[in-house]
Amino acid sequence: MANVQETLIDYLRDAYAMEQQAISIMDRQIERLENYPEMTARLRSHRAETERQAERIETALQRLGTDTSSLKTGMAKLSSNLQAMMNTFAGDEAVKDVISNYTFEHYEIVNYKILKATAETAGEMEIARLAEESLREEEQMASWVEQNIGVITKDFLSRIENPHMQQTAKR
Ligand code: MG
Ligand code: FE
Repeated sequence: MANVQETLIDYLRDAYAMEQQAISIMDRQIERLENYPEMTARLRSHRAETERQAERIETALQRLGTDTSSLKTGMAKLSSNLQAMMNTFAGDEAVKDVISNYTFEHYEIVNYKILKATAETAGEMEIARLAEESLREEEQMASWVEQNIGVITKDFLSRIENPHMQQTAKR
């Protein structure tokens, strides 16, 4: 059985892989979402936050005398690229991206809560504070996505055929 310090290092490494995956997902979305300027703008600002989140994890690992080398981020990148490709082929990619992003931000939230609790238990209060900072950013992003589910869905629907609207216009 690993000790708390080793477990903290494992969770930090998992979080680092998670943030690498986040960057890769957002890059694909930003590339493809030309018709959704507000969503793209929010993704760009969260991408910048995400780079700082990855740096916080590097700082935390350095504090513990280790680093981010030998991390298994390859699989994560592959699966996020596949996901982005599937969303693109679906045509309603903005809506599919909302699902991906809502899910991913909540995945990040639970991971940072676990990381924070583990850091506190290990007596690493500075690392707990770093986890808390990133946690707040994920919560803000999750809440932005939540508030924009209807807006983005209706924006997408306004671009496709709507028999109901055509009927209304004829009357
Ligand atoms: Mg993140
Ligand atoms: Fe995030």
